Amino acid sequence: MSRVIGIDLGTTNSCVAVLDGGTPLVLPNAEGARTTPSLVAFNDAHERLVGQQAKRQAVINPTRTIQRVKRLMGRKYRDADIQELGQQVGYQLVEHVNGDCWVQVNGQAFAPAEISALILQKMRLTAEDFFGEEIRDAVITVPAYFSDAQRQATRVAGKIAGLNVLRIINEPTAAALAYGVQKDKDANLLVFDLGGGTFDVSVLTVRGGLFEVVATSGDNHLGGEDFDAAIMAYLLDAFEAEHGMDLSGDAMALQRLRGEAETAKCELSTLRETSINLPFFAVNDSGAKHLTATLTRAQLEEICKPLLDRLEAPARRALQDANLPGGKVDEVLLVGGMTRMPAVQQLVERIFGNKPSRGVNPDEAVAIGASLQAGILAGEVQEFTLMDVTPLSLGLRAKGNRMSKVIERNTAIPVRATKIYTTTEDNQNTVILQVLQGESEIATDNSLIGTFSLTDLPPKPAGRLRIEVAFDIDRDGIVNVSATDTETGNEQSITIEDGSGMSEAEIQRAMQRVGAMTEAAS
Ligand code: AMP
Repeated sequence: MSRVIGIDLGTTNSCVAVLDGGTPLVLPNAEGARTTPSLVAFNDAHERLVGQQAKRQAVINPTRTIQRVKRLMGRKYRDADIQELGQQVGYQLVEHVNGDCWVQVNGQAFAPAEISALILQKMRLTAEDFFGEEIRDAVITVPAYFSDAQRQATRVAGKIAGLNVLRIINEPTAAALAYGVQKDKDANLLVFDLGGGTFDVSVLTVRGGLFEVVATSGDNHLGGEDFDAAIMAYLLDAFEAEHGMDLSGDAMALQRLRGEAETAKCELSTLRETSINLPFFAVNDSGAKHLTATLTRAQLEEICKPLLDRLEAPARRALQDANLPGGKVDEVLLVGGMTRMPAVQQLVERIFGNKPSRGVNPDEAVAIGASLQAGILAGEVQEFTLMDVTPLSLGLRAKGNRMSKVIERNTAIPVRATKIYTTTEDNQNTVILQVLQGESEIATDNSLIGTFSLTDLPPKPAGRLRIEVAFDIDRDGIVNVSATDTETGNEQSITIEDGSGMSEAEIQRAMQRVGAMTEAAS
């Protein structure tokens, strides 16, 4: 089997690793860096820039620089948090068919999966350059909390990038795998992953090389960017108080400020105080105005307190759901750049009573774990088996807008479950099945991941037909549902595959566009 790469497709940064002679290697990109900013930009020459090149020009080209695209994967344009994100980013979000969220640049619409594909392609080329050989097979990681639609979109992104995606695994599971390489003992682990855009907590047990995720929790909409936004809001308020100018609608100023806010935040992980200087931040009748401020670690913690507070409930929920004997974890692993913030580490220690482990590099752990999973699939690593769980409950919409759960969250995957349903009206010849993912008892509060109908039912009084609905969740967390009328044997099934938000024709078109770029670059 040829080499299989492991890719951490992150909100802010991505990383690629591969097993080389049994040892995980993090591969440096063409710019020499071990992580690549997850940014794609379009310039005046209609060229596409990916990674560091895109990041460097983001300030002067905010409307054509696409960042944080991971947050858009498999999402609907009208979702409240997507609308909110649309206000924060400099580029334009548009509503595509089925209400999916796409991005628009230079009058052209792109699916989030196509933009992610450009990042994945860069990771693939990084590996190909390193080894001087063609690479096709990959394992890609996603947050444990990703829904079916988000996983589908990730798989499609891999396909567009010319990759054969062998497996999609959860980021915390990958991090624990990386940890497993370094420590060889049975343990209960808690992975606390706070990255650029998402927060995940997972509890895993490791027994004789067998990794089992026993609980997951988190917040899909909480990450380092929110900390940056809080700092920005604080600085903009201070600037307005001093100069009477509101710059919250100035895309260029916001882009400059975002970079400074993030740098200050990172510096305050090691320093007690730092300064922010943005010369010529604005101009009014009395001349140029500069933004200068000092920020202390204590102020930062005060500004970010509402965000820090939001970390606690999901962390406690995961621990509770895990129901560990004695209720204790042996090790807490920190993943994601934001866990370098001292206040985050203190919070973790206060909640779990353990000093977090520092054995794993928080920026690289996930890609290293993905490369280990790749090694397992390629038969190169034998000592681990991986078991994962589904992060969200799965079910059907039942009478009275109720959610009829068929598979509870935290069930080990792959899994198959069946349930018998019946008709509610006399001589009903069609049933429409709405497949839902989520935890609410109220159907419409959960996300609808697919609809299909079972037709040509034989005429029967209400409640007499037996319709068996089978749910399958595969190893990647992707859902397949089938319904059978047990009397006639008539069966209908769907793979919930429109979840990626792209039709097959759109995927093919994107593959051509992305492929054309490879040729232009080589
Ligand atoms: P990741 O998605 O894991 O690459 O995490 C990226 C996030 O971590 C970004 O929001 C960064 O600003 C943040 N980050 C990176 N280094 C530090 C640091 N030293 N202190 C605080 N936050 C950091």
